[in-house]
Amino acid sequence: MARLLIVGCGGVASVAIHKCCQNSDVFTEICIASRTLSKCDALKDKLSGKTNTVITTAKVDADNVDELVSLIESYKPDAVLNLALPYQDLTIMDACLKTKVNYIDTANYEAEDTENPEWRAIYEKRCKEKGFSAYFDYSWQWNYQKAYKDAGIMALLGTGFDPGVTSVFSAYALKHYFDEIDTIDILDCNGGDHGYPFATNFNPEINLREVSAPGSYWEDGHWVEIPAMSIKREYDFPQVGMKDMYLLHHEEIESLAKNIPGIKRIRFFMTFGQSYLTHMKCLENVGMLRTDPVEVNGVSVVPIQLLKELLPDPATLGPRTVGKTNIGCIFHGKKDGKEKNIYIYNVCDHQECYKEVESQAISYTTGVPAMIGAMMVVTGAWKGTGVFNVEEFDPDPYMEALNRWGLPWVVDENPATVE
Ligand code: NDP
Repeated sequence: MARLLIVGCGGVASVAIHKCCQNSDVFTEICIASRTLSKCDALKDKLSGKTNTVITTAKVDADNVDELVSLIESYKPDAVLNLALPYQDLTIMDACLKTKVNYIDTANYEAEDTENPEWRAIYEKRCKEKGFSAYFDYSWQWNYQKAYKDAGIMALLGTGFDPGVTSVFSAYALKHYFDEIDTIDILDCNGGDHGYPFATNFNPEINLREVSAPGSYWEDGHWVEIPAMSIKREYDFPQVGMKDMYLLHHEEIESLAKNIPGIKRIRFFMTFGQSYLTHMKCLENVGMLRTDPVEVNGVSVVPIQLLKELLPDPATLGPRTVGKTNIGCIFHGKKDGKEKNIYIYNVCDHQECYKEVESQAISYTTGVPAMIGAMMVVTGAWKGTGVFNVEEFDPDPYMEALNRWGLPWVVDENPATVE
């Protein structure tokens, strides 16, 4: 029925591609296109003969709009699923616009070169106006609203787990459980253990930048920024147990603040063990998280990129990781004049993910919703012209698909809340 071009062939893409191949009634043809063709071919070889989906591969530099345009023109997909890095969001959006093809991603745009003066001027203006200093925000992609509308195509932004499923949970809570939602606490718990002293569960560069940046939350119509890791809480996660969690800035806060009417506060917490935090602080203190180039024996090296080469490849953590993730949202609000709390969450087991698709749960919990978002677009279950975040659509078909495709969820109507 549909032909999907998938850009990127890393941890998340591998899961999404496995899931598209399981869902071959919808995804009759896929093209896996990435920078390293051999990775695309290896995945194709692994899946061929086990699926009815017809798989082709291509080499593409997703920083290059012309290369993307010629690939799209030759493959003629119904949609492009961007599972490369946030650095490539705008070039892939530009190529989709030029070819009038729908666009889907899992993470908002982030500049690779944060020293670029043109980018820096816009960034500093935004920091002053909005009050948060993260290197990523939605304004770059929301700016495509008119162009996408005029072209008669849609962009679906942020269909991973967080953002993605947590945003759909919010739309679902609002539709079925509340007249108004006052607060949302998004809790992201990874209770998995890979046995290494230090490793990141997805792209180290993206992960470490996110975690070492100041935290922030939305309250009473504005952002409140705090020093990194300065707000800590404990929570007893169903099927995982008691964990320390820390308030972080996270991209879905920005879109939920815009799309959930009357919302008063949105916070995001992620669990970290003490060993992870000690390693990260040490790496930060010695400059290994720096994103600007330094000269080493006449060679230009970006410290965080060197660190990425030294750390275990997230794609190899699957067989070693045991334990579960629990990711969800606690909502507080009113229904029929009465105050209430509900907690919607998913629990995912690292080893079960590995058995099914040879990936750990972090890639799994992102790759499955990436496939589901693409399915919403190519089947027309979600349609429109312009640029959308997932919470702007009817959550019901997406919630059904989560149950069907490996991420079943639970609604707890009497949860413990976070102080
Ligand atoms: P990986 O680093 O494992 O994979 C990235 C892939 O993109 C690699 O195959 C890489 O190619 C390819 N790539 C990078 N640059 C280019 C380029 N210029 N042209 C073509 N291909 C390129 O990352 P993940 O799979 O962990 O993450 C993928 C995306 O998912 C990221 O945007 C990340 O932020 C997002 N994410 C979202 C989450 C959510 O819940 N919403 C959670 C986790 C991740 P090569 O193999 O050559 O390096």
